[in-house]
Amino acid sequence: MEKGGEMKKWKFQGNKNLTIASNITVRGVLNMVMDNVNSHDDVIALGHGDPSHYPCFRTSPLAEDAVVKTLRSSKFNCYGPTVGILSARKAVSEYLSRDLPHKLSPEDVFLTLGCTQAIEVVIDALACPGANILLPRPGFPYYEARCAYSGLEYRHFDLVPENGWEVDLDAVKALADDNTVALVIVNPGNPCGSVYSYEHLEKVAKTARKLGIVVITDEVYGHLAFGSKAFVPMAVFANIVPVLTLGSISKRWVVPGWRLGWLAANDHHGILEKSGLVESFKGFLNISSDPATFVQGAVPEILENTRDEFFSNTVKVLGKVADICYEKLKEIPSITCPHKPEGSMFVMVKLNMSLLKDIQDDTDFCMKLAKEENLVVLPGMAVGLNNWVRITFALEAPLLEQGLERIKAFCKRHGV
Ligand SMILES: *Cc1c(COP(=O)(O)O)cnc(C)c1O
Repeated sequence: MEKGGEMKKWKFQGNKNLTIASNITVRGVLNMVMDNVNSHDDVIALGHGDPSHYPCFRTSPLAEDAVVKTLRSSKFNCYGPTVGILSARKAVSEYLSRDLPHKLSPEDVFLTLGCTQAIEVVIDALACPGANILLPRPGFPYYEARCAYSGLEYRHFDLVPENGWEVDLDAVKALADDNTVALVIVNPGNPCGSVYSYEHLEKVAKTARKLGIVVITDEVYGHLAFGSKAFVPMAVFANIVPVLTLGSISKRWVVPGWRLGWLAANDHHGILEKSGLVESFKGFLNISSDPATFVQGAVPEILENTRDEFFSNTVKVLGKVADICYEKLKEIPSITCPHKPEGSMFVMVKLNMSLLKDIQDDTDFCMKLAKEENLVVLPGMAVGLNNWVRITFALEAPLLEQGLERIKAFCKRHGV
């Protein structure tokens, strides 16, 4: 009731599509779990993947200096072109081409606000009436959220834990129809910590070719592989199928707050160009905002000159904490880890519900864990797998060990 006693009828309201789409994001679910912790002082966060706070994951001084230098040069206080400044596009094309049998040109690369905006660009560009896209389960739910918002139908194919979380290619073939336009893979994998072999990626490429669809490869964890398999970029198979590579400096350089990502079109036969997709990418970028120009200005220095020791040290630290995580989890009977993580910052583990009393499901597990132990992990339902949990191991080793001890104590207390 307003002043004067009369009810005024206002004509505006919030867009409900945004609420619906945002409910299925990792951040949305983590906030819900976080609301259950007892004391905010002593929380151990094994839920989200941002290790930039920990000294052992501090970015390379070269990257910090590069940004300071471009900022102080006063040459990058301007607006940039909507597709990104040329020197940065060139640097990204050369960076990606190092691992490819072909050479990308700067015109194949579009700079985005993190890998997040690269996802928005491709989903929106593909969202034509009636079209559908194939997404992995478990997956990175931002894809689902963005599809829901943009009205692109999505269908899930399973990743198979017993096969190192490889794509179930028979499921892909069974799901696809005349309106299927693309397939998404995340490699190295979030949430599974998987790294795909050359052979598997080749099979994915051949399957997509048969179906006449484009492969979108989320390689935001590119090169963060510490198991037996080396990271192979999907674009190695761009002679078989057109490949859209999404990436950013957020994870490999541990600077997610810098918001610098890219989308690269590996288009050997001009198929993406002819389809109008490349035109749509430019259209999207014309009606959205760009990464800060001074960060773009630092990209050539960052991509060309970051020392190998920085990369190898990050991979070494991740490998060590992944080992600790895997070994510690073995001590907990009610949790099974079907596949040792080989890359990224995450592992998916299965809850053996029959060994847990007074726990309803994965969400209940995470809520009670937050309340009783001040520890946050992500319920599997947020990434598409009920009664699983995603654990981040990208922490300082002692803190990770302490966190896993808390999970162990919790499971023991709630064990049958
Ligand atoms: C973190 C992440 C992103 C987003 O990357 P930003 O560069 O921070 O926007 C995209 N995809 C996956 C799989 C991620 O884990």
